[in-house]
Amino acid sequence: MDCYINLHADKIPGQWYNILADLPGEIPEERESGNNPHSKELMQKIRIKELLKQDVSKERMVKIPEEVMEKYLAAGRPVPLMRAWELERYLGTKANIYIKREDLLPTHSFKLNSAFAQAYYAKEQGITELVSESGAGQWGLALSYACKVFGIKCRFFWVKSSMVQKAARADWCRLFGAEITASPSNITNTGREILKKDPGCPGSLGISIGEAVEYVSLHKDCAYVSGSNLPHVLMHQTIIGQEVKAQLKSIGVKPDLFIACCGGGSNLGGFMGPFFFDKEFNQGTRFLAAESDAAPRLVQGKYRYDSADPLGITPQNISYTLGRDFVPPLNHAGGLRQHNGSPVIGLLRHKGLLDAEAFSQEEALKAGKLFSMLYGVLPAPESSHALRAAINKALDAKKTHKKTEIVLCLSGNGILDINAYRNI
Ligand SMILES: *Cc1c(COP(=O)(O)O)cnc(C)c1O
Repeated sequence: MDCYINLHADKIPGQWYNILADLPGEIPEERESGNNPHSKELMQKIRIKELLKQDVSKERMVKIPEEVMEKYLAAGRPVPLMRAWELERYLGTKANIYIKREDLLPTHSFKLNSAFAQAYYAKEQGITELVSESGAGQWGLALSYACKVFGIKCRFFWVKSSMVQKAARADWCRLFGAEITASPSNITNTGREILKKDPGCPGSLGISIGEAVEYVSLHKDCAYVSGSNLPHVLMHQTIIGQEVKAQLKSIGVKPDLFIACCGGGSNLGGFMGPFFFDKEFNQGTRFLAAESDAAPRLVQGKYRYDSADPLGITPQNISYTLGRDFVPPLNHAGGLRQHNGSPVIGLLRHKGLLDAEAFSQEEALKAGKLFSMLYGVLPAPESSHALRAAINKALDAKKTHKKTEIVLCLSGNGILDINAYRNI
């Protein structure tokens, strides 16, 4: 079998898949935050209209707009699924490992799949500036580029500890013309409140969300966008899973196990989403979320209502949460450090369809380093968590002599996170 299972550009799926059409039960409705009785109205006002519609639509398949499809093709989609021969041989396992190479996209991660779509809908609505938050900066970078491509201004609040760690990525964002603010900042009330209590606060994704939302609520002609969590983001990302499905069909493989790292849940949702309810693929198949043990919400969190920001200005949703005032310990996997996650992923977990395991930074980065030794490609620290999970499962298969088909999503490239690997 070839190493790269490629899909020809004319076989690229022309539609996104909306998992809301097939979920086993309703996502409990969003409710007002105790601290802001107008939180729902606020989000309706500051978000992009088409994306708000997508968040509640039950339409199973949604056509990808032509301009977005053009960008996908120009960015190199469909991206290959790689049979990881070298890794299998190194581990001496009977498991077959397939890796979806989202790290090959421009700006180094899968985030671009939704950034293009969101910038496109913003432009359609006549919005001139997009405002958001970013953890490790991958979403901020993808959005900076997508906004440049569609001729829109970009501003985002970046978790301070990550922005300091990843200075080269910040330079790249500025090259695209983005305005970046380290969060907590003193330009919003949210930021000032936090700094008053803790002047050395390293920031968290929740604080950055709070700052971005507040900024948009006070400024004209801009809209607030998110790079993860929400149903529309997961839907845009299903271009990943649908390509994988076509690739697996072309080689006649039915996976036993899908693995993705999980922060807000968008690479996982986009990659596995199209498989959960497809009878051709879900018989006896397991789905595994690899988390960071610095923020193990699916493993240790509670399934309950919570806000996405620490002051509670955003509405409350049900997902697994560690509590909105949770500030995770410093680590390099900035994309896996939030206190709560996607309501869709939460429901899948709650219904027993999704397994979860948490990994330490060190064990994850060791897996990333091994991958780099074998392939000359440095995985993003987040992606290394998925690799760690896959390697552990492949070693289990070695003990039991069981042939196991494992498919994982390599969500991003980590060359700009190289300092994370310094002491590994
Ligand atoms: C943002 C990011 C993640 C985590 O986000 P999800 O929404 O959980 O997918 C994982 N890997 C990379 C490379 C990222 O940029």
